[in-house]
Amino acid sequence: MDQEVRARFREQLTNMKAERTERLKSVRTVLASERSDGSLGGIDPGSGDHNGSHQQLTLAVAGDRAGHLSDELKSINQALRGIENGTYGVCQECEGEISEARLNALPFAVRCTPCQERIERQTE
Ligand SMILES: [Zn+2]
Repeated sequence: MDQEVRARFREQLTNMKAERTERLKSVRTVLASERSDGSLGGIDPGSGDHNGSHQQLTLAVAGDRAGHLSDELKSINQALRGIENGTYGVCQECEGEISEARLNALPFAVRCTPCQERIERQTE
């Protein structure tokens, strides 16, 4: 992969990292405030009996989202490290090259398409 392409992906990944970090922070703020005072930030504080289940649902969704975002952040960080040490775009399974088309679609991909498909089939 040439310098120019790598620089482009680095910029893209840096932006994605900043964006995910912001989102994770706001999701975690919601989670933290729910846990500490049990009230939903700004959503229907006094609507009575149905509040409980709605709140649980919101918590579950926020928790899911936080997990997903922090997984993505891990991959993004891994990709950024790869850019620094020259392993970016190398599949972590077969050590083959990840195609540029795949990286364009998913800049923090850690596996080539065949390996990804194989693993998805295994986990189904
Ligand atoms: Zn592979």
